[in-house]
Amino acid sequence: MTDVFTSEKRSQIMRAIVSEDTKPEVAVRRLLFADGFRFRLHVRSLPGKPDIVLPKWRTVIFVNGCFWHQHRGCPRAVLPQSNADYWRPKLARNQKRDQEDYAALAASGRRVLVVWECACKKKTLASLQALMRRFIRDPHGPAFCEIGRSEVLALLQAQDGERAL
Ligand SMILES: [Zn+2]
Repeated sequence: MTDVFTSEKRSQIMRAIVSEDTKPEVAVRRLLFADGFRFRLHVRSLPGKPDIVLPKWRTVIFVNGCFWHQHRGCPRAVLPQSNADYWRPKLARNQKRDQEDYAALAASGRRVLVVWECACKKKTLASLQALMRRFIRDPHGPAFCEIGRSEVLALLQAQDGERAL
């Protein structure tokens, strides 16, 4: 498949998509708030300026776009083929920066949760909420966790299985 857009035009389109996608972040905030979590937003003093910070739980949350942050194995992360050479280094830089930010946060004793935009579909919000709750409320759990579409679907399927029993 060839990309019909020039790389500049594609850049513009991708940026537009990203700004529309403040939506997943708003969805995540609502779920957390409904669960009684209180948080701060876009904390500049922390590495990577995390989207959501829960001081009480020493946990930070990034709501990441699957393309910009290259969600592994996600269909939304696939590069436009004709401009792959243009995108690859750009996205690789994003990924590298992410890894450095997560490491710095971990070094400061914070736990990091990455919620991928593909996990923020209306249909799967309840699962997303349950998974976030589980991670946040378990301070002795893993220091890093990602929730994407496959994680929320796995939980949904497990619940369906239980209901079927
Ligand atoms: Zn994804």
